[in-house]
Amino acid sequence: MHEDIEKILVSQEEIKKRVKELGEEISRDYKDKFPLFVCILRGAFVFLADLVREVHVPISVDFMAISSYGGKTESSGQVKILKDLDTPIEDRHVLIVEDIVDTGLTMDAVTRLLKTRKPKSIKICTLLDKVDRRIINIKVDYYGFRIPNSFVVGYGLDYEEKYRNLPYIGILKEKVYKGGSN
Ligand code: 5GP
Repeated sequence: MHEDIEKILVSQEEIKKRVKELGEEISRDYKDKFPLFVCILRGAFVFLADLVREVHVPISVDFMAISSYGGKTESSGQVKILKDLDTPIEDRHVLIVEDIVDTGLTMDAVTRLLKTRKPKSIKICTLLDKVDRRIINIKVDYYGFRIPNSFVVGYGLDYEEKYRNLPYIGILKEKVYKGGSN
């Protein structure tokens, strides 16, 4: 385990098993719908890469980059689009693929924006869901794991751009972001 990690919350094996189940569920729901998977960068890139390989119906993929935290561990309430989609989504079935839903502000802003482009449907698939932290009541259609309110990294999620390559979801030691000595 990495020295900055307090505890492994979701292991590599648990993630693999759950992503396979999600892929099967999504394959059933989107049969003959040719959905567009919208990956929210950067955190969701690992999840997306594993998820699409467990989906066995035709899909396409595009990417959107959002900034919400800017290096801190608290939501700023501000959402900025850093990179927009290249694909028109009018009349498409859109599935947003996100790493984690926390307050819900980011997903609320993204779905509101995408709805103005008249997709046929729009749903959210998140690997992690911190349900207790919600300040906006958004509907999560698919989730991998519901987790408690701790700051987590790994499997695509970062703290100041580090830890994205850890193969598991781990709770980051507080001293890493609070700057203490132990
Ligand atoms: P929300 O807008 O729902 O409060 O936050 C969503 C975004 O906040 C996620 O896409 C993610 O970038 C970031 N975030 C929320 N909780 C965590 C966490 O525990 N760890 C990391 N690395 N990012 C988080």
